[in-house]
Amino acid sequence: MSKTTLTDGSPVTPDHREINPATGQQKGYVVLSAEERAKGFVRPVRRTYVHSKCGVATTMGQAIAETYARQPDFYSGTFCVGCRPHFPVGEDGEFVWDDGSKVGT
Ligand SMILES: [Zn+2]
Repeated sequence: MSKTTLTDGSPVTPDHREINPATGQQKGYVVLSAEERAKGFVRPVRRTYVHSKCGVATTMGQAIAETYARQPDFYSGTFCVGCRPHFPVGEDGEFVWDDGSKVGT
């Protein structure tokens, strides 16, 4: 009974971190299970963040947004559609939600 799944609710696969060269994104992203997310959020559900280095906004899927809202430190890094690679999040990170607070905090 795992508390995590991929964004579509399917089981986490060993190769989910493989990067799709066409998009620069991972094959799959791990999220907290729907059951776990249903327990309640400690932050607002925010879907868009801005990378301070390039100024580009990235909008993520609902399951990832809810995972951040349930457990803000769940992810150690995130994706920028402007720069493509994944960068760290948190107090020292370069990502800010559209309401002005830091991603991962
Ligand atoms: Zn960027």
